[in-house]
Amino acid sequence: MITLKNVSKTYGSGDKAVVALKDASLTVPQGAITGVIGLSGAGKSTLIRCVNLLERPTEGSVVVDGQELTALEDSALRRARHQIGMIFQHFNLLSSRTVFANVALPLELAGISKAEISQRVEPLLELTGLSDKASQYPAQLSGGQKQRVAIARALASRPKVLLCDEATSALDPQTTASILELLKDINAKLGLTILLITHEMEVVKSICDQVALISGGELVEVAAVGDFFTAP
Ligand code: ADP
Ligand code: ADP
Repeated sequence: MITLKNVSKTYGSGDKAVVALKDASLTVPQGAITGVIGLSGAGKSTLIRCVNLLERPTEGSVVVDGQELTALEDSALRRARHQIGMIFQHFNLLSSRTVFANVALPLELAGISKAEISQRVEPLLELTGLSDKASQYPAQLSGGQKQRVAIARALASRPKVLLCDEATSALDPQTTASILELLKDINAKLGLTILLITHEMEVVKSICDQVALISGGELVEVAAVGDFFTAP
């Protein structure tokens, strides 16, 4: 479960201060998929980056899986972040590493043995439909395949939470549908809690259980998807 309580984020200070998030409170239930939707500049990215403290909130608290991240020192925060995977619009893969080596990277950094790395990476490649791409490099892959690599890499540390920052915005509609299908599958199979941000209603409609609408840095509505899309 993810709980944001009265979270605010201001970038810069004085004349140049930008209030990107104002007093946001949100609960993402364990095992649910929550979509944050809003226009460009609404504060979606800031909100999701406050969950794993890529951005430190100016005010308020963030609790993930019972642990208050906003109260942790740097070293404890680094450990806690292993429970939170993240994927991005532009995939952020390392071009000099094969698919296998990209997925293995977080495990290598964690000092896990080669044998165990293989044991953990292979099922992830299978889950994401990449088993036959293990030896290819990112430049040889389609956009959808690159995002699958990023998803496999995000899952390598066995997180409880997956954050998706416009994960399908760079993809065509058909590829988007297949990535959303994969996220839904991961959510069901691994019981992973997913928080995703998007500017597309269709994404929310197709896979989310809950939707949070953000406008001008404020969460203006949080509702079950069924209620949100019911005509008045
Ligand atoms: P969204 O993801 O909905 O497009 P963002 O969270 O990226 O919105 O941005 C919200 C507001 O904060 C915007 O006005 C944006 O210009 C501003 N902003 C985002 N990141 C920074 C930053 N690092 N420094 C200053 N302003 C920022
Ligand atoms: P998509 O419909 O997912 O965008 P593409 O048409 O881009 O897929 O790619 C189809 C196939 O071609 C994929 O199996 C992919 O591995 C391969 N492919 C895509 N780009 C390249 C490339 N630059 N070099 C070699 N193979 C590629």
